Amino acid sequence: MPIDLRSDTVTRPSAAMREAIAQAPVGDDVYSDDPTVNSLEERVAAMFGKEAGVFTPTGSLANQLAIRMLVAPGEELIAETNSHIVRAELGAAAVFSGITTRTFPAKNGQLKAVDALEIARPNSGPYLVSTTAIAVENTHNFGGGTVQPISEIAALRKGADDLGLALHLDGARIWNAHVASGVSFTEYGKYFDTISVCLSKGLGAPVGSVMLSTKDRVAKARVWRKRYGAGMRQIGLLAAGAHYALDNNIDRLAEDHRRAKEIAVAIASVNSSLIDPSTVETNIVGLDLAGMPITAAELAQRCRDAGLWISALGPKYARLVTHLDFDDAQCQEAIEILKKALVA
Ligand SMILES: *Cc1c(COP(=O)(O)O)cnc(C)c1O
Repeated sequence: MPIDLRSDTVTRPSAAMREAIAQAPVGDDVYSDDPTVNSLEERVAAMFGKEAGVFTPTGSLANQLAIRMLVAPGEELIAETNSHIVRAELGAAAVFSGITTRTFPAKNGQLKAVDALEIARPNSGPYLVSTTAIAVENTHNFGGGTVQPISEIAALRKGADDLGLALHLDGARIWNAHVASGVSFTEYGKYFDTISVCLSKGLGAPVGSVMLSTKDRVAKARVWRKRYGAGMRQIGLLAAGAHYALDNNIDRLAEDHRRAKEIAVAIASVNSSLIDPSTVETNIVGLDLAGMPITAAELAQRCRDAGLWISALGPKYARLVTHLDFDDAQCQEAIEILKKALVA
């Protein structure tokens, strides 16, 4: 079996999770009859101090439903240049909701409230696009699993309130942020009008995200979910996997973070320009190959030939992501493969 560090989405449900899925009471969710998905939506909403939640098959859909609730067609969402909403959702905000985006760059994706607030232009009148919301990604995926400082989130909320702007949290990996920072889910929750969380990343459920907000916004988002073709039936099967993940797989993320750090330290010992281990706060190790005579695709191929799968996300940017199907023995093996591939 190859060691697969392309993403934390590659995990397979454990026997115990499959058992929980098999036992789940279910019903037709389009009639709101599925007790397991209903309890999941209530549970995740309560965790973040929100009124309600709606289950979605993907994090992209959860993000898209959320920003649709905040930003009208022809209005603007501000986000970081390398955020998932801007780069990895295939223009969905424009295609489905008529939302334009304007972006600001941030080193390692790390939020500085002032960067977002500076370019915000609410109530721009009949000539320029009006900003209505700002999105924050925590942890920041393409930034290298960066945890957003709670002080900057608080400052952003204050500035957004002064300008009358809404805030969305793309919390696909908010679980990792919580474990790394110790900041509670309700603390993260209180700063945002809408939140999306993924159950199929580090938590290891096979499918699923939840969009959280007020009862009113979630009721509207449910209509749009059906309109987009994602009204689902006996999805208690999926929700049961998510319940199991919430019960068992949050605290163990600390292990993923420890292994990511070990990999980063080992790689930095080959060449310190590849990565600064102090920037590896969670489960993502992003390698900057700018100072190396090798492309990310070449590195990925060398690793693949040796039994390690990693992602080449840019010409000179490679990414490794640790997860619950990756143990200490595999970590040592991955480090040996990477060291050889980098000096070859
Ligand atoms: C994975 C991810 C999502 C959602 O992705 P899907 O593949 O649509 O589930 C959203 N935001 C971030 C930051 C992600 O990493």
